[in-house]
Amino acid sequence: MSILRRLHHFDGSRKALKPLHRVEDVRAAAGDLRKELLAGAPVPYYRSMELVRVPYPSKFGYLNCFGTLPPLMHLCNRLFVVQFRDHEGLLKTLLVSPSDWEHQRETPFFKRLDESMGAFSKLGEALVFRKLGTVLSRLAELGLKPEDIDYLTYDHLHTQNVTRWLGGNGHAAIFPNAKLLVMREEWESAQALIPWHNQWYCPGGIAGVPEDRVILLDHDVLLGEGVALVRSKGHTEGNHSIVVHTPEGLKVTSENGVSLDAYAPLHSQVPGVAEYARVAGAEVVLNGNTQEYAVDQYISMVQEKTIAGPHPRDERFPNLAPSSESAGFWLFPRTAPTFTVGDLHFGELQRPAGA
Ligand SMILES: [Zn+2]
Repeated sequence: MSILRRLHHFDGSRKALKPLHRVEDVRAAAGDLRKELLAGAPVPYYRSMELVRVPYPSKFGYLNCFGTLPPLMHLCNRLFVVQFRDHEGLLKTLLVSPSDWEHQRETPFFKRLDESMGAFSKLGEALVFRKLGTVLSRLAELGLKPEDIDYLTYDHLHTQNVTRWLGGNGHAAIFPNAKLLVMREEWESAQALIPWHNQWYCPGGIAGVPEDRVILLDHDVLLGEGVALVRSKGHTEGNHSIVVHTPEGLKVTSENGVSLDAYAPLHSQVPGVAEYARVAGAEVVLNGNTQEYAVDQYISMVQEKTIAGPHPRDERFPNLAPSSESAGFWLFPRTAPTFTVGDLHFGELQRPAGA
């Protein structure tokens, strides 16, 4: 018996031979899913909190754009805590993007960045890595205990190390009851990466995680009232988006784009973004550190912004909540997005049953 309900909206929507036909087929399906989700109830609790800000190459953040940005920009990693009722009416607590950033520094990209700072490493780190909170400190602030957590999910596994959370690689599990929800494609690809992908995955990040802690997904699913996981391949092979019905509409989370500007580039004040979108006729700008699924990523970003709909606070931008959002920083001038989502908070945390 499955606790998850399969969603069929996007079945066959990427089959057309002509890429622009795929864009329109996916857009239509996304509109249908949006209507259906909005007809239900919002989740009782949704909160996002900053964990850490890390440097990231601007050339990847706004792929192909014409502007002359500083070589690096800041990405702000957030933890999302979501409570919802499952299909049996039970309250469940889901962590979206719980990055164990203290244990991800072996990711080759970050390791090389560290080494390139050489003697300035400590100073450089103090300047460009802004540590604001850990997953455990944020949960403690909310009054949640590790045993309260039912599910973890990441829109993709770049840089992630889940072994402390779920057990594996010599660690005992910190979250005794949590299961990881992950697309099968992402889980499999992370275990046998071709060389340029391996720069972004943490070595041993999923090693030895017990099988019964992982729920491999082959389809889009509705976890319960107001929470869907929708495949949105592109940024990685098995990327998915987390869609949550909140009192402020449908919030869609992934890392296909680094800011709302990336999803509405014509309205962007980030140098070169709007100009590129105008010249190319591009609806979206990819977050492209690995680009082998670029066509799919373009389609997925249209899919995401259609599900999300317009942002209630600024209708020029879609209602997304990127898992790694570009954030302005004095050292990286002119990289601040035109519209920043920031931390979000809706509803009151419920005490999990049995806690
Ligand atoms: Zn990534």
